[in-house]
Amino acid sequence: MSSNTHFTIAVLPGDGIGQEVIPAAIRVAEAARAKAGGFELTYETLPAGAGHYRDTGVDMPEETLEKARAADAILLGAIGLPDIRKDDGTEISPHLRIREELGLYAGVRPVKAYPNTPARLADPRAASIDMVIIRESTEGLFYTQGRGEVIGDTEARETLRLTRDTCEKLFDFSFRLARKRKARGKPGKLTCVDKANVFRAFAFYRGIFDERARDFPDVETGYNYVDAQALDLVRKPWEFDVLVMENMFGDILSDLAGGLVGGMGMASCGEIGDEHGLFQPAHGSAPDIAGEDKANPLATILSAAIMLDWLADRSGNDSLTRAAALIDDAVDAAFAAGELLPVELGGDHGTTQTTDIVLKALERLD
Ligand code: ATP
Repeated sequence: MSSNTHFTIAVLPGDGIGQEVIPAAIRVAEAARAKAGGFELTYETLPAGAGHYRDTGVDMPEETLEKARAADAILLGAIGLPDIRKDDGTEISPHLRIREELGLYAGVRPVKAYPNTPARLADPRAASIDMVIIRESTEGLFYTQGRGEVIGDTEARETLRLTRDTCEKLFDFSFRLARKRKARGKPGKLTCVDKANVFRAFAFYRGIFDERARDFPDVETGYNYVDAQALDLVRKPWEFDVLVMENMFGDILSDLAGGLVGGMGMASCGEIGDEHGLFQPAHGSAPDIAGEDKANPLATILSAAIMLDWLADRSGNDSLTRAAALIDDAVDAAFAAGELLPVELGGDHGTTQTTDIVLKALERLD
């Protein structure tokens, strides 16, 4: 990081609605930056994605990866279009390449119920859902991607891999996040989700969790087997604060948790490593609604807030913490005032109008 007041953001809008939600997020991030003061952001838009592959035969120019590596943070829209595949039939996935190349092991997915949005659970306590799922994002069962074996037509094998090094970093990150939430008035409890009762790999995982917990005695911990966790996410999701889990478990449970509080357009995400952070909505390019100004930009707007918060931690510049809080508070306030209901949640606010409403709410904040 070259400066603690000036940050470069590599912007990869990608495909489909990525091209619509990224400009929305930048408008809001800029308004928050202007209001908070104390730092500057320079955005550099870079090509990558299925559209770029169709036009050039390359899914991500080497220069995009190098500039993303050199930037202070990466903001990504969505990558992939269903009808554009490589010759071997696989999807265009420069995002996975960035994740691997930059070692983005901690996938951070906040799940929060906003006021005046359609409730998916009948229990009124669902209005207080506010948790973060941390999905390990570089190994676990996804390690096997591209390495699986099919033996004749009788057997298929995939291998799950967990390493001590990544587990330690993942747990340290999770404990620090729980501690930070506690400082912000949230429970700050960390739950280790695994299947340690059946698999040695998960007993190993849980053992490392316990080792790392000794360095964070102030953080309350809990355990849940993944199947029980799925049940509890429907039965009592309001009881959870920060949950950490293996890649495949996180892939599944973060979608389940996201479904409890709204659509994919509310699902923000940060992918964080030791030196790099990529921030993106958890949804895809949604070609069915692309170009119609219907996409919900809030997942991307809230991802930009996670980005500012992460940059604040790295740089020690509190103005960024303030800018991130302004974005979160503006979204909260707009929902609380009953002003905001995106098309995706049954209202009639498209991408532009949703963004305008958040900007107005942000202007009103102290
Ligand atoms: P991927 O595999 O790339 O994650 P996907 O096929 O799982 O993508 P998405 O592109 O995430 O699917 O979208 C699934 C559906 O959810 C879309 O077709 C769209 O109708 C809806 N959707 C996704 N994101 C949004 C959004 N931001 N606003 C409104 N609707 C959305």
